[in-house]
Amino acid sequence: MKLDRLLAKHRLMGRTQARTLLLARRVRVDGEIETRFDTEVDRFSAVLVDDEIVQPAARRLYLMLHKPVGVVSATSDAEHRTVLDLIDDPDKDTLHLVGRLDRNTSGLVLLTNDGRWSKALMHPDKKVAKVYRVTTRDPIAPDAVAAFAEGFYFHTEDLTTQPAHLEILTAHTARLTLHEGRYHQVKRMFHRIQNRVTALHRESIGDYVLPEDLPPGEWRMVPESANETAR
Ligand code: URA
Repeated sequence: MKLDRLLAKHRLMGRTQARTLLLARRVRVDGEIETRFDTEVDRFSAVLVDDEIVQPAARRLYLMLHKPVGVVSATSDAEHRTVLDLIDDPDKDTLHLVGRLDRNTSGLVLLTNDGRWSKALMHPDKKVAKVYRVTTRDPIAPDAVAAFAEGFYFHTEDLTTQPAHLEILTAHTARLTLHEGRYHQVKRMFHRIQNRVTALHRESIGDYVLPEDLPPGEWRMVPESANETAR
């Protein structure tokens, strides 16, 4: 929202009056005097007129959570426990998910109340890598590596999946790196090579790696330095 609009809204005044306050150098945004009417402010900006708080800065939240199998990647669900039920922060109701996992998938889920951060991580042009550990019903054939790199045509969406990196770890396990996130993508890809995913676990999203000492069901704040680089 533009600064003059925010002032007008919170101080119940016209925008012309708000601009007068700005020109009189009475408005501070995040501690700095601001005179431009059209400065964009969001709820994370602290706005003061003289010493009166017009808007306190909201807390920016960036969380990583180890989603256990059986918990839903949603903020509400009529039937199942959600990732939000695992969080005990007082501002948890402001959070949204940065991408989802199926109910029977475990691993890294990121949550935030900062839309710019989640958009940057989710934007298709950014091609942020998502790494999954996959367990399969049948042994993984060596030629699967080339098939994943080439891509699979998905009829429903009328698209071919982007090159994916498959690293076969054991007969029944692999590490798969995707740069996109389509509905049930990993399971559908394995289905195309006549195999079946029996367990799926997300290890990382871009630079954010699920910490080894974060047990299923637990969460922690993303270190400040990490989220600065993603913004
Ligand atoms: N692909 C899937 O099939 N399921 C997930 O949860 C994530 C990626």
